[in-house]
Amino acid sequence: MTQEFDVSYDVVVVGGGGSGLSCAVQAAGHGLSVAVLEKMPQLGGSSAFAEGHAAFESDEQIKRGIDVTKDEAFRAYMDYSHWHADSAIVSRFVDNAATTIVKMRELGAVYEEVIVTAEDQPGELVTWHIPHGEVAHVLELMEAKARELGVEIYLETPAKEILTDGGRVIGVVATDSDGEEVRIGAKAVVVGTGGYAKNPAMLDKFSAWDCGAQMINVGGEGNEGDGLQMMFDVGAKEWSSIGTLLLFPIMRGKTVTSHTNAAGFQPYFWVNRDGKRCTNEICGLNFGQAGDIVANLPGSFFWTVIDQTQVDHLVNDGCEVGLGIYVRTGEKLVNLPAELEADIEAGIVFRGDTVEALAEQIGVDPAVLAAEVDEYNGMCRAGKDTRFYKQKYLLPVENGPFYAIKMEPGIMITMGGIKIDENMQVIDTSGAPIPGLYSVGCDAGGLFGDSYILTVPGSANGFALTSGWLAADHVAAQLKQPATV
Ligand SMILES: Cc1cc2nc3c(=O)[nH]c(=O)nc-3n(C[C@H](O)[C@H](O)[C@H](O)COP(=O)(O)OP(=O)(O)OC[C@H]3O[C@@H](n4cnc5c(N)ncnc54)[C@H](O)[C@@H]3O)c2cc1C
Repeated sequence: MTQEFDVSYDVVVVGGGGSGLSCAVQAAGHGLSVAVLEKMPQLGGSSAFAEGHAAFESDEQIKRGIDVTKDEAFRAYMDYSHWHADSAIVSRFVDNAATTIVKMRELGAVYEEVIVTAEDQPGELVTWHIPHGEVAHVLELMEAKARELGVEIYLETPAKEILTDGGRVIGVVATDSDGEEVRIGAKAVVVGTGGYAKNPAMLDKFSAWDCGAQMINVGGEGNEGDGLQMMFDVGAKEWSSIGTLLLFPIMRGKTVTSHTNAAGFQPYFWVNRDGKRCTNEICGLNFGQAGDIVANLPGSFFWTVIDQTQVDHLVNDGCEVGLGIYVRTGEKLVNLPAELEADIEAGIVFRGDTVEALAEQIGVDPAVLAAEVDEYNGMCRAGKDTRFYKQKYLLPVENGPFYAIKMEPGIMITMGGIKIDENMQVIDTSGAPIPGLYSVGCDAGGLFGDSYILTVPGSANGFALTSGWLAADHVAAQLKQPATV
């Protein structure tokens, strides 16, 4: 059946974030005609928040004397996921991520440092390549190159449906910025809509947790799982760990740069809604693991209870753990006193002269909280945590006033999605590639098992950028052999 199109391209890229733009630049570089459809009024998606991306044996690492081998990285992904990750996807990414660094540098990116996220985190690989202006600037560079190469970028143009003919993808239906339906023909469609972190129903459906509505999305507002649904509608197979989320503890109403929020995830003394200490707070060194902890708790929150000595320590000496480069590990939380006052005034932080008075304010039995604090302080003085075996940061909570900061599940991204092959082609439920259909970035599954690997920092954005251009290469190669895409 012949279908009428309003306009046609060789490649239609759905989603104008990191993966989509990387794909568009590479495809246009191959001489293909390319359109990028972006749902939001601006490009960028969650990628615009990223600080850096992972690579292995990159020239930026080598010139800094950083020795992270591809073998080591491959092993890290596989072991961390209990070999649940897809070896072929991991291998493709590990092998090509260093080339992404070269490609971004050719566009004008300047890499200022290659670092870890948390100095104290055991076994973290030095893979986080931080460009000047962070990833937001890399996105600007990619957009400029895409436009220079003639890529047509349509903002406020959500794709709604993938069109197929005889099992082959032939285009998409979208809604243009005037609200009109537009039918766009394509020899290949590459879907990079950034996962479903902004879709509470999908979060509940796919993830291990049922607190999707409570999760605070700090990433792209457009990441509602559209691409996944469109791919399922044409027969795509779900990746087995589609429910993998990158959670982290965050205060409701605060941003990732907030110093009160940073105080809230320090590995000090965390209690659940009943006032009981709830974990080994050392998990705060890996915010993804701390995110899993908070999502699992009754009510999906914990209180970080700190005293004035800890506040002073955070201000004068610096924090034990940061949040990416939004708050650096060791940074002095100089805004904390003023922010605390404002947050107390706003009713999102509580203060009491005694532990019991604080407990009353947060709705916890004062006797329970006082007993927990007493026991914890005893363990701190003894230097031995006999409850959760924390070996560091055993700081007693003893000098009032005392503060309680409520930490809830924040969500950065979802990382599972569609099953793809090593060329980023979407696999159908029979195990065969759907001709002409590709999935990249957070929509594509395979790099992760049931949790994000923060010990290889920069994995998500690294994969987004790398999978984007790898998909474009495959599309270009296939289009040179007519009728094979
Ligand atoms: C605060 C924060 C910090 C982060 N820091 C890092 C970091 O330092 N390193 C790292 O590796 N990762 C980091 N990440 C994660 C990383 O940014 C993302 O995982 C990755 O860059 C996602 O790229 P993507 O292309 O898959 O999705 P996105 O960049 O989110 O792009 C998807 C795009 O698709 C659009 N879209 C959605 N639906 C449609 C539709 N129907 N039609 C058209 N367009 C649509 C969206 O609006 C969006 O613009 C961070 C995330 C956050 C939130």
